[in-house]
Amino acid sequence: MQTMNRELHQSKQFLMEHDHFLVVSHVQPDGDAVSSTLAVGWLLSCLGKNYVMVNEGPIPKRMGYLWQADQIHDLSVNPLDRKFEHVICVDCADFKRVGKTKDWFEEGAKLLNIDHHPTNDAFGTVNLVVPDAAATAEILYDFVTYMGLELNKEVATALYTGLLTDTGGFRYSSTSPKVMEIASRLLEYGVDGPALSELLLEQMTLPQLRLLTRALNGLQLSEDGLIAWVSVSDEDLQATGASHEDMEGIVNYPRNIQGVETGLLFKVIDEQAVKVSMRSAGKVDVALVAKHFGGGGHVRAAGARIEGTLDTIVPQVLEQVRLQL
Ligand code: 5GP
Ligand code: MN
Repeated sequence: MQTMNRELHQSKQFLMEHDHFLVVSHVQPDGDAVSSTLAVGWLLSCLGKNYVMVNEGPIPKRMGYLWQADQIHDLSVNPLDRKFEHVICVDCADFKRVGKTKDWFEEGAKLLNIDHHPTNDAFGTVNLVVPDAAATAEILYDFVTYMGLELNKEVATALYTGLLTDTGGFRYSSTSPKVMEIASRLLEYGVDGPALSELLLEQMTLPQLRLLTRALNGLQLSEDGLIAWVSVSDEDLQATGASHEDMEGIVNYPRNIQGVETGLLFKVIDEQAVKVSMRSAGKVDVALVAKHFGGGGHVRAAGARIEGTLDTIVPQVLEQVRLQL
């Protein structure tokens, strides 16, 4: 806890000593990444600082209800006309995760790295990394409290969104008593918990359901039944009208099969690369497998971008998973 206090202090100094900030999260941002970007933006606005929130690409449409969600620049459409010397990275396990946003970092830019991935390599000038936290939003709740700021409903909704999505609806093993305590406090600010669960965890678009059906049609299982996997290509997206964000959640289906220890989703990015998402029932540390391929994540949920084609990558990943079974 003392270490955390030192990191909180250093992070506060980082904000207090500078005036213009770029706030970035990881490529293909999830609920925690978007919410954490907005929570940092809110914090900076409370301090009267100048800031620009960005991502390499678009943020999921589903998250449009979040306060200032439309203020996160999609750099693929709206490039910025200046670079920044001070950057705040949220929910990024390593520097690569910031993607093309790095083109707007001044050379030698100072970075504040706020994250909760155990594989985080402390790439920041200041690192507020708490691997025990269920979400980056949990760390930001502590940071806002440490800064002595009073939350409002808008930022409470963002923080709740990060907790809700990164804990799979307060179900994963990361759902600590502290997470429930924070969630409870956030509800007191008027956050509509059931509506967020319905929107973020229950509802599917029709193209999303069609994509899921198509992916499950190609489900494969190892002979011993311990590993299950599916794959999705651009062809599948086109055939179903689904978008990239509709792939989220598919990986849970192979993992949910009784007896399966590791579920995998292979997303073909292009002819040169595949993104693999991994989920573990507990035995296999998928963060280790991801790290082997230059990625990262958590013990039970991790990912990596691997150069190659499905034919060569699938057997390689299966082999690495098998080493731990
Ligand atoms: P997902 O499979 O949902 O994309 O990601 C699962 C977890 O692994 C998330 O915590 C995510 O941040 C992390 N992760 C996914 N892909 C990568 C990657 O390419 N590199 C690193 N370092 N972490 C990743
Ligand atoms: Mn996260």
